[in-house]
Amino acid sequence: MDTISFLDAETAFRIRDEIGTPCYVYDESSLRSVADEVLAFPNAYGLTARFAMKSCPNGNILRLFRSMGLKIDASSIYEAERAVRAGYLPEDISLSTQEFPDDAALRALVDRGMSVNACSLNQLQRFGKLFPGARVGLRFNPGLGSGGTNRTNVGGPASSFGIWHEDVDRVKAIVAAHGLDVFRIHTHIGSGSDPDVWVKAVTLSLNLTREFESATALNLGGGYKVGRMRNEQTTDLQDIGARMKAEFERFAAETGREIHLEVEPGTYLVANGCAILSTVQDLTSTGESGYDFIKLDTGMTENTRPSMYGSQHPMVVFPSTDLTREPRDYIVTGHCCESGDILTPAEGDPEALAPRSLVETEVGDLFAIGGAGAYCASMSAKNYNSFPECAEVLIRQDGSLSLMRRRQSLEQFLVNETEISF
Ligand SMILES: *Cc1c(COP(=O)(O)O)cnc(C)c1O
Repeated sequence: MDTISFLDAETAFRIRDEIGTPCYVYDESSLRSVADEVLAFPNAYGLTARFAMKSCPNGNILRLFRSMGLKIDASSIYEAERAVRAGYLPEDISLSTQEFPDDAALRALVDRGMSVNACSLNQLQRFGKLFPGARVGLRFNPGLGSGGTNRTNVGGPASSFGIWHEDVDRVKAIVAAHGLDVFRIHTHIGSGSDPDVWVKAVTLSLNLTREFESATALNLGGGYKVGRMRNEQTTDLQDIGARMKAEFERFAAETGREIHLEVEPGTYLVANGCAILSTVQDLTSTGESGYDFIKLDTGMTENTRPSMYGSQHPMVVFPSTDLTREPRDYIVTGHCCESGDILTPAEGDPEALAPRSLVETEVGDLFAIGGAGAYCASMSAKNYNSFPECAEVLIRQDGSLSLMRRRQSLEQFLVNETEISF
């Protein structure tokens, strides 16, 4: 049976009583210890560790990480503005975005020190026209990809992220035309947990760095795989970091250039620092040759990952009665009227069902879904079926609870709706 290290029955029922379900439950101690690990990433000539905030952008998480010394990777201008509101200086923020902001919004933060990685030739052109002679980073697609699934693969010919590595000459022409100062090379291919893939990614990225003599920093993005389930592997940062360091040293010996390392994990920092706490609100069955279903008061409104990727999350039942419970196989479903709202798909195949062995469950039991810190609160189908955005709570290091976000009211999600008369 699965466990969630920071959540026991007593805490789960306390959260239900004080805050209600569904609720994201974050654990301060877990978040702090992973942040310490990332800040200790091996490096040869200096390290900047950024938090890829799209994975979990609540301002309290940003403030916690800021207090520990993490900087920010923002994936849109709105995220950058959110980080500033959480107390980050613009100079602590690096923007790598698919959608280039409008001129005024970009200028407001670049003039105050935010750095930008141009992620396409068009972005580089626009940046050059707006900020001739300025410092700029270049995000490349080095031609290699290694995401966990097709949908999380962010490098290689099937990925639109970054400037294609064969376009170096076109990049140089744009850089020269606007007198830009290329200070950083950036790649993010979702390399996973395999050290050999990381070394390959570093080698390709250093080859791109070689092409731009002015570059003093190389950002290798995020993509450090975290095991949410017991059978899944977690990246050993010390191991891959040591191998990367050796590549940076080799590069320095060869070129005389001591390159500063940047890393920017999202998943690794937050994935296992949060669980979704929910209540079992119904049980149904499709008979002998069918399935037993557990219906929760959460689902794709809080976690779309199972429906999108067939990803697996640990699940723990906290019984509300002390009757003896036998193990039993269940399909766990969300509360949305959408057949894809399944929390127990087959691994990597959201179309297929994979019954999960749990203790026999009753209506009113609490049900926790672990591994919910990354791309859950930030990437949910919120307000589908008009369910309100749920609360977020932090378990402090002393065991007390601090509310991170209140449950949304109906008024709040109707606030921008107009009323046309008919
Ligand atoms: C999403 C993203 C990250 C973080 O990826 P994880 O897989 O969550 O570690 C880092 N850098 C960039 C540019 C990204 O788009």
